[in-house]
Amino acid sequence: MHQTHSDVVLVVDGSENEPTCDALVTQSKGVGVAAMAADCMPVTFSADGVVGIAHVGRVGLVKGIAQKTVEVMFGLGAEKITATIGPSICGRCYEVSPEMYSEVIALIPATATSAVLHTLDLQAGVTAQLSALGVEIRNVGICTRENPEYFSYRGGDVIERQAGIISL
Ligand SMILES: [Zn+2]
Repeated sequence: MHQTHSDVVLVVDGSENEPTCDALVTQSKGVGVAAMAADCMPVTFSADGVVGIAHVGRVGLVKGIAQKTVEVMFGLGAEKITATIGPSICGRCYEVSPEMYSEVIALIPATATSAVLHTLDLQAGVTAQLSALGVEIRNVGICTRENPEYFSYRGGDVIERQAGIISL
């Protein structure tokens, strides 16, 4: 998909050519849906008969892209959904301005770490959002900024990205 930090979720069957959105959901067997990220979170979603992927950064988290993906999957008949948070920048490493820190933690309290360090914990934020919807969460626990085996935009990898992929 062509990702724009939006809250747009599309249901696809594999016939689309790089749709503009930040989450994809499919019920088509053998169709892999993918998100590219290097510090933002690639979040996969699995349920009986339907899977999804979301590209979740700070902007997407605030817009509720992960929750919207789950809502679309529930709408397609998913009952029990498991989400997996892929490699992404952690709450120790994602420093933002004090103003931005205050703004985001007011909207999503789980992202708070410390006012002194003003780093945001996006993984905790999406975990709180999805847990509230009854989604089971797994977190691979890999920080892209700290682990040299993964691309990190903050770490200077301007072009390279990881891909999170899931299929039925
Ligand atoms: Zn880190």
